[in-house]
Amino acid sequence: MDTYAIKNNRWIDLSKLPKRGKIISWKNSIGYTVPFKYGDVEGNIFIEGYKECQTLIIIYKDKKYEIKTGNFTQCHFGRFIDTPIFFEKNIGDVVVAKNCEYTILKQIYITKNKKRLNGYRYQCNQCGYIDEDIESLLLSGRKQCPVCCNNPRIVIPEINSIVANPENHWMIPYFQGGYDEAKLYTIGSGKKVDLICPDCGKIKNQPVRYLYYDKTLRCDCGDGISYPNKFLYSLLNQLNINYISEYNFTWTNMKRYDIYIQNLQLIIENHGSQHYKPNSSFQYCGGRNLKEEQQNDQYKKELAIHNNIKYYIEIDCRKSELNWIKDSVMNSELPNLLHFKEDDIDWLECERYALKNIVKEVCDYKKGNEFTTVEELANRYKLSVSTIYRYLKIGKNFGWCSHDDLRKLKAGRTSRKIYCVENNMFFKSASAIQKNSLELFGISMLANGIRECCRGECIDYKGYHFKYITEELCQYNVEQLTQNTPLSA
Ligand SMILES: [Zn+2]
Ligand SMILES: [Zn+2]
Repeated sequence: MDTYAIKNNRWIDLSKLPKRGKIISWKNSIGYTVPFKYGDVEGNIFIEGYKECQTLIIIYKDKKYEIKTGNFTQCHFGRFIDTPIFFEKNIGDVVVAKNCEYTILKQIYITKNKKRLNGYRYQCNQCGYIDEDIESLLLSGRKQCPVCCNNPRIVIPEINSIVANPENHWMIPYFQGGYDEAKLYTIGSGKKVDLICPDCGKIKNQPVRYLYYDKTLRCDCGDGISYPNKFLYSLLNQLNINYISEYNFTWTNMKRYDIYIQNLQLIIENHGSQHYKPNSSFQYCGGRNLKEEQQNDQYKKELAIHNNIKYYIEIDCRKSELNWIKDSVMNSELPNLLHFKEDDIDWLECERYALKNIVKEVCDYKKGNEFTTVEELANRYKLSVSTIYRYLKIGKNFGWCSHDDLRKLKAGRTSRKIYCVENNMFFKSASAIQKNSLELFGISMLANGIRECCRGECIDYKGYHFKYITEELCQYNVEQLTQNTPLSA
């Protein structure tokens, strides 16, 4: 039998039709009857006419249809045969797509553009979501699950919302409606929401995903330290390593390095997403573009190496996510240089610290420890004294510490005596040097710059090395120190 058997239970017998060579002559086929089988239906189709463009006019069960010869020989009769159409997949079959697998639950019909089409009810094997779609789309191999794909269309609270994964629960306090509101969004949602700062209560309307990427609302009450930097601070704190954050060398041309570990001559730079891809949130903040950012990175690295920095470690922090940064750290030279293994670090603590508002932390600590000094705070949080002051000022605006607290700290600060290495001179305070600097050094100096130098936040100040005076020096120069003016030895 000369049939064009198509799929397992469809065929059409074209053996009786007149041919020219091997090809069917459709013009001469008018008046012929052709037997076929389509699913459970067997019958005959009468060829009544032939139009240009390979179109046949056929009659089936007293009704006239037009059909392309190609569709005719392929048995595409679904639209006029009123019977369950042939399904490619059976219940229980697994369909494999690019990023997902689905299990067929039921064969169904779906009406689309007035056409009845084959479809399935199916379940996503990854997330368990049950949905329906037409056969051609589900079997195309490109079907994405609307719930667990990268860009979900549908939010199912217990499957893909913010509340579904405990790792994302830190986001809940940013929703005014708390848990019940957070469950309406995925972490990557572009929907703008009136989010609330959990620290100060300020409302900010912004897409949910910015909160997820930044790990902060970038509120006025915030500490301004990025998630990756805080993450690394916590890591170094856990290892009891002495470091200075935001270090400004004399040779750096105003450029600051994220982390400096003096005894190893080691610099750590944490590169966020703006160092890797364009159009990150930095650009709308008026920051550098990608090319400038990368040129700047290269320049800073060369500058550091040129100035005898022994180790220059760049950590890939393009995602502010625990596992991402952990992998970047473990794949870097840091474990080797700082002698630690993955198990030595409480990574969850790194994340907890990175999600905190350090302004609030500092103020709360100050509140509970009335007599703490600004130096103690700086040492405790491994931040510069000026940063601690800035935080306390911010905290004052939000009522987290009082005007009195600040005043007391300031009063305690001016009393420290200072030694200058170059001219072997002693001074009663940094302010005293500032006042007399033109006379004594021939240049004008600022008390803050001198103090930064004393605290080791920079190596020298305008070419001079200043130190807070130790007990030893005090005793040696006790006579000079009893006087209130700077004296040479
Ligand atoms: Zn899914
Ligand atoms: Zn705030």
